[in-house]
Amino acid sequence: MAIGAAGLLALIVGALLMRGGEDSRSPVPEKVPGTPAWAQEHYGNSQKAGFEGRNIVKIEFLGRSMFVHRDASRHFLRLERLFEARAPDYAAAVAAGELDDWSYDLRNVRGADVKSNHAFGLAVDINALANPVGTSGDIPDEVVRQWETEGGEWGGDWNRPDPMHFETHLTPAQIRHRYRGDGTPRGWYLDQLIGG
Ligand SMILES: [Zn+2]
Repeated sequence: MAIGAAGLLALIVGALLMRGGEDSRSPVPEKVPGTPAWAQEHYGNSQKAGFEGRNIVKIEFLGRSMFVHRDASRHFLRLERLFEARAPDYAAAVAAGELDDWSYDLRNVRGADVKSNHAFGLAVDINALANPVGTSGDIPDEVVRQWETEGGEWGGDWNRPDPMHFETHLTPAQIRHRYRGDGTPRGWYLDQLIGG
């Protein structure tokens, strides 16, 4: 579809007006990591046509296919490695168990009119049948603590616990800086993790 110069100008002016309005309403924008505004700023507008095709990639995660944002895939590969290294029995059980693990999904947060991080490919649900919302679940603590140390968020700590849920709170730049393509930490970051 061709957009005329006038239409394009109207779009740009409209975007600037929206941005101005947003800033004047809230001097400190809600760009807290994990919020939809933050996700959209760093990972793109999940509502826009073509978002999925441009951004969502398949990764192998504990023996199954997960769909996550291309720019966050390294962080989720790191999460898989944390399961394998710190809770190998649990990792093996997930790989051999039911297909109850989910990832990219264009939907709102359950019971709320807010886009979930699943809609951006920034969240995965692991072993859902054993970790229903509202329970403490069975996710190994040693995986959770390291994930949180490395900039991940775990739903099991929320007021309404969602223990199957893991999401990244790192920007694409932070992820590229810290991890190689296969999810292993770069040398400087590994030194920091070990030393710190
Ligand atoms: Zn989830």
